[in-house]
Amino acid sequence: MTEKPILSVRDLKVYFHLDEGTVKSVDGVSFDAYKGQVVGIVGESGCGKSVTMKSVLRIVEPPGKIMEGQVLLSKRDNPDEYLDITAMNEKGKDIRAIRGGEIALIPQEPMAAFSPIHTIGNQIMEAIMLHSDVNKKEAREICIRALSAVGMSMPEKRVDSYTWQLSGGLRQRAIIAMAIASNPRLLIADEPTTAIDVTTQAQILRLLKDLQQERNMSILFITHDLGVIAQMAQYVVVMYLGRVMEKGPVDAIFHNPKHPYTQALLQSIPSAQKTTKVKLPTISGSIPHPFNKPKGCPFHPRCTRAVNGKCNRDLPSEFVVGDQQFASCYLYEGNEEFVR
Ligand code: SF4
Repeated sequence: MTEKPILSVRDLKVYFHLDEGTVKSVDGVSFDAYKGQVVGIVGESGCGKSVTMKSVLRIVEPPGKIMEGQVLLSKRDNPDEYLDITAMNEKGKDIRAIRGGEIALIPQEPMAAFSPIHTIGNQIMEAIMLHSDVNKKEAREICIRALSAVGMSMPEKRVDSYTWQLSGGLRQRAIIAMAIASNPRLLIADEPTTAIDVTTQAQILRLLKDLQQERNMSILFITHDLGVIAQMAQYVVVMYLGRVMEKGPVDAIFHNPKHPYTQALLQSIPSAQKTTKVKLPTISGSIPHPFNKPKGCPFHPRCTRAVNGKCNRDLPSEFVVGDQQFASCYLYEGNEEFVR
């Protein structure tokens, strides 16, 4: 790609130093997100996808610490220049201007994000006034427009509602309104539909897609659900035990996956085309305990193609396996290596 990314995560390492040992939650993660692109980050619980997202916003809770790597965000007024988010003071004014202003978060659980004792309008207006030079009356107008943009009926009335007066779907719409009200360039959606029913989930996904297209926003979409990824993402990053196993355009990942982990994940999804009464394949073994991460390729204890003496010894590099597609696997060792 000749275009420059809006966000570039480079060899990010985030460790948690605990009494019992060190958990290498994110251990050398690299990927880019371009303007107007939806990047899906997919993986099982504990793969490091949420810690990666928190590192982008610098909200990793202690004892978690960014040990190495960079999170680069292009400047709004000069996209050729980048700000290094990892170099910022996590409580400083630079990162506070980025959080909610340039990069907004849609959390998994809106009840935890909103206070029950203030109206949604007051909370959204507070966020708007923090990031733009507007008075209370103007902030209320922006807030009503944002509520209307997320499909909330009677926004002039609902602006004065408390979260406990709204259904789960409306609360999720309110949190999306808060996220888009300051016109961010990048939206991070952290499993935004996990806590809602299937019908509302489809509506919220449709809404996010419409907003993304209307505003040409970039989205980092974090989920464990490959179905949601297929529906939403243009580019996919597959994570396992703090590492990127494979990344590539959504069609390549779903129709021509190269990494044994991605292949196994896709084979274990039920499909309407599959023969009935045939047991679905599963990935043998279980995810190792984070304190006991295996040496070498993190997937080797469960990989049916692991080569003893190689896969269990050293970490494989990322190899080019297709157009914008990369796999961290020794099976592609002769291919060109991914370098920035
Ligand atoms: Fe399997 Fe080895 Fe590839 Fe890891 S590097 S996925 S163990 S073949």
